[in-house]
Amino acid sequence: MKIYIDGKYYDERNARISVFDHGLLYGDGIFEGIRAYNGRVFKLKEHIDRLFCSAKSILLNLPMAHADIMTAIVETCRRNKLRDGYIRLVVTRGPGTLGLNPNRCKNPSVIIIAGKIQLYPPELYRQGMDIVTVPTTRNLHSALNPAIKSLNYLNNIMAKIEANNAGCEEAVMLNAEGFVAECTGDNIFIVKEGQLLTPPLAAGALYGITRRVVMDLAAQAGLKVSESDLTRYDLFNANECFLTGTAAELMPVVKIDGRVIGTGTPGPVTGNLMTQYHALTKASGQPIYE
Ligand code: PMP
Repeated sequence: MKIYIDGKYYDERNARISVFDHGLLYGDGIFEGIRAYNGRVFKLKEHIDRLFCSAKSILLNLPMAHADIMTAIVETCRRNKLRDGYIRLVVTRGPGTLGLNPNRCKNPSVIIIAGKIQLYPPELYRQGMDIVTVPTTRNLHSALNPAIKSLNYLNNIMAKIEANNAGCEEAVMLNAEGFVAECTGDNIFIVKEGQLLTPPLAAGALYGITRRVVMDLAAQAGLKVSESDLTRYDLFNANECFLTGTAAELMPVVKIDGRVIGTGTPGPVTGNLMTQYHALTKASGQPIYE
C-alpha cells in the first residue's frame, strides 16, 4: 500500500509522522472518510468542502488548495490500483512542542490512506441491527461542535465501548437535553407514517454526506423529509429506522433498547433507499482512471 504524506508516497511500514505531531498529542486535527466505488470517488467535492469547514472552525490553515487535495486523493487511489475501497484523509496540526500552543506547529500534515473497509458483516444488512442508547451524551456545541469532524473522537469512542459492553455494534447518542443526536459513526433516520425524519444538526449530528444523499433520494421518491428533534419514544414507535454513513452506507435497525422497531425486519422504505443508494454509488463520482 502506498500512503500519501505531504506530497510524497511511502510504503506502509515507512509511512510515519512525528511523535510531536499535535494530531497525536492532542487530537488536534481533522479528517474525512471517503468511498470509492467502481473506479470513481463518491461525493469527493462534498467531502473536501466539509474538510474546509472543519479546518475553518478549528483555525487550521490547510496547506493545500481544494483542487489539489482532490487531485492527491485521486492519485493515491490510482497508485494503489483502487477501484472499490475506503479513503481516509487526515490533516493534523503538525509537529510542535510539548504544550498546547498550536502556533508552535508551523506545518500541518496531510495524510491519505486508500485501502479497504468492511464495517459490518453482510448478513447484518439483511437482518438489521440491534442498537442501544448509551449514557455518554454527544458533545455540547459550545464545547466541541459535533459538526467538526475532528481527530478528537473520544466522545464517540466512549459511546462505542458502552454499546459494545451491551452487546451491540452501534449506540444511539442523545444530546445534553435528551434529544437524539446521532450514532457513534453514523447518522440516524426514522420512517413514521410515510415521512422520513432525522435530527437537525443543532441536535448534535454531523452534517453527514450520506445523510444528505439519502434525504435527496427520499425527496425525489416523493417522501416528505424533515429534520426534527426526536426523543427515544419517537425511535421506539417508528415504523422503520436506519443508520447512514460513508462506511456503513445504509444499515437497517430493528431493535432499540430492547424495543422491536416496526415488524422487526428491515422495512420497505429502508430497502428502497438502500437499492437507490447502491445504484447511485455505482453510477457517479470523480473518475480515478480516465
Ligand atoms: N456521524 C459521525 C459521528 C461520523 O463520524 C460519521 C462518519 N463516519 C457520520 C455521522 C456519517 O457521515 P458521512 O455520511 O459523511 O460519512
